Amino acid sequence: MKLLDDAAARATRYLALLDGRPVNPTPEDLARLDAFLTEPFPEAPTPDAHVLERLDALGSPATMATAGGRYFGLVIGGALPAALAANWLAAAWDQNAGLAMCSPASASFEDAALRNLLDVLRLPPECAGAFVTGATMATFTSLLAARRTLLLAKGWDVDADGLFGAPPLRVILSEDIHPSLRKGLGMLGLGRDRVETLPVDGEGRIRSDGLAARIDGRAIVCAQAGNVNTGASDPFEALADAVGRHGGWLHVDGAFGLWAAAAPARRHLVAGIERAQSWATDAHKWLNVPYDCGLAFVRDGKALAAACSLEAAYVETGARRDPSATTPEMSRRARGIEVWAALQAMGRSGVEDLVERTCGHAERFAAGLRAAGFEVLNEVVLNQVLVSFGDDERTLAAIDAIQRDGTCWCGGTVWGGRRAMRISVSSWATTPEDVERSLEAIIRCGRAVVNP
Ligand SMILES: *Cc1c(COP(=O)(O)O)cnc(C)c1O
Repeated sequence: MKLLDDAAARATRYLALLDGRPVNPTPEDLARLDAFLTEPFPEAPTPDAHVLERLDALGSPATMATAGGRYFGLVIGGALPAALAANWLAAAWDQNAGLAMCSPASASFEDAALRNLLDVLRLPPECAGAFVTGATMATFTSLLAARRTLLLAKGWDVDADGLFGAPPLRVILSEDIHPSLRKGLGMLGLGRDRVETLPVDGEGRIRSDGLAARIDGRAIVCAQAGNVNTGASDPFEALADAVGRHGGWLHVDGAFGLWAAAAPARRHLVAGIERAQSWATDAHKWLNVPYDCGLAFVRDGKALAAACSLEAAYVETGARRDPSATTPEMSRRARGIEVWAALQAMGRSGVEDLVERTCGHAERFAAGLRAAGFEVLNEVVLNQVLVSFGDDERTLAAIDAIQRDGTCWCGGTVWGGRRAMRISVSSWATTPEDVERSLEAIIRCGRAVVNP
């Protein structure tokens, strides 16, 4: 089909030109977006080729170059070629991945991907897995199982009877947990603010001293692998001991930090993580598959399946696992296909290399910035770097100058009460040259702000 050849050619050209353009769109590119937003709905059809041409002309320049090697905002990965190609082919298949009856192929690739994931992430092989949109929904999904299990222990079937009149549950969070956790708790009826918090140290890790006294009863305890600012991970051995003593539930948000387990040199950072009851992670971050793809893993697969169960006369359940048996959604795209392709293409050594390479880039950023006289605020143990350019005003001005320069893109945050710039190296596409070019731009813009 000529249209699909045209789409592939445009996509390939887009990727080939990424290296030569600013990472953020220009004001003119954005102004064109504003203009077309107010166009009326067309009365007559537009030829397909023309739709695609306009999409490319308006959209491609207005994208953030997150698929390239010099985007370091939030925690955003690129798309590995094997994963992107698999995504294109799977889109042509247009399978409904919810039920094995609708797509035996999707169900099988997802099962294979889950088995590989548990292996490479060193999680218990008996875990049930769920492909969802991202880590936010992965935590929500995991906590469906937690809520059910802890309430059943009090004689309450929450899935049948709801939360009205249910016995209360304790929920304990790290003081510096990712905001998506509170969002999930709100959606679960457990309350965003009805939580107890555990104090953290200077890197945002839960303090292990006094933990046994703070977790002194059955509770859902949420910890994290990979603090979104520092990359630091909580003390899982101590947490698992404290939670296990009372038969509670330990959930780990490992949106990116869980991947430390895939690299032998970083594995000690998440020691004991396999002792939790559930884990949330993203594949669209460090595994570098196209958006969107998050994953929930739950040790007690039966609890998750019970919370997500559904029966209908027209749904045939066969020998093959239905992917929707452990997810909140029914119909959905086959996210597991890209994960399978990424894992096949890299193998164990490739995943390890991806994690190590990006962590090495973060270390180079930290060393280069320190050598230039700027202050790095965190211990760079993973792929996150926090840098200050002096007081808050100078740091904000430096971030603004760096973003306008366009060589690379970094965002801001507040750490330890101070403004900081975050550098998150999460893309397979980042090369040592990208790091040097970006360092040069950051130091140049930073110096212009400090000594105007
Ligand atoms: C990115 C992130 C999330 C949210 O993930 P989504 O995929 O955006 O839903 C949660 N926790 C941490 C630590 C993260 O880095």
